[in-house]
Amino acid sequence: VQDRLRVRRQPKRASYDSEAIRAVLDEALVCHVGFAQTNGGCDQPFVIPTAFSRAGDRIYVHAARTSRLAAILRGAPVCVEVTLLDGLVMARSAFHHSMNYRSVIAFGVPAEVDGAEKLTALEALVEKVAPGRWPDIRQPSDKELHATAVCALDLSSAVLKQRTGGPIDDPEDMSLRCWAGIVPLSLEKGIGIED
Ligand SMILES: Cc1cc2nc3c(=O)[nH]c(=O)nc-3n(C[C@H](O)[C@H](O)[C@H](O)COP(=O)(O)OP(=O)(O)OC[C@H]3O[C@@H](n4cnc5c(N)ncnc54)[C@H](O)[C@@H]3O)c2cc1C
Repeated sequence: VQDRLRVRRQPKRASYDSEAIRAVLDEALVCHVGFAQTNGGCDQPFVIPTAFSRAGDRIYVHAARTSRLAAILRGAPVCVEVTLLDGLVMARSAFHHSMNYRSVIAFGVPAEVDGAEKLTALEALVEKVAPGRWPDIRQPSDKELHATAVCALDLSSAVLKQRTGGPIDDPEDMSLRCWAGIVPLSLEKGIGIED
């Protein structure tokens, strides 16, 4: 395992299994792209939330070709993060409160893709939000494709960390008379409001 991927804190919660990593990426709708912008004398880290898709062993992010994100995604080192929140863990002490989660971190240098791979990535983005929708909608025009940069990050440097289960309280706190347990959290689609 690469040093930057080795989970040191709670390493039992880490997984490098590509199927497990893919499952989290496929369930999540949003990723955060972290990068350090060092040009122009500024040395500033940024984190930008954005939609993404996965196909095979790559994740794809798209952005307006003229955006800063698109420029960064064409060749700068990034750290991409995705988190699914599964529950609030309510312990008997303030200290042991926690959250159940599955989170993926991936490192790498994205590259712009074109042609069939670009279309596949855009299709995956739509299909992720609404499976079966791609054939029903107008396909991107040449102008729209030109205005949009699609960049891919290989998942060769990725790790999953997850917490499951209830609170881990100190034995001497177990007799305290406060509620303890898990409050499950999930993201659900509501009923569509037609345009
Ligand atoms: C919803 C949520 C809430 C959390 N709340 C807290 C909190 O309140 N306090 C707290 O200390 N920690 C919290 N964590 C855990 C936190 O993400 C870190 O794992 C933890 O702080 C240890 O960080 P570190 O840099 O010391 O880890 P290290 O183990 O030193 O990290 C080494 C490497 O492990 C990987 N890694 C670390 N954390 C994650 C992760 N979460 N997902 C995927 N890969 C990872 C990265 O590749 C990183 O470079 C939370 C995580 C989530 C998802």
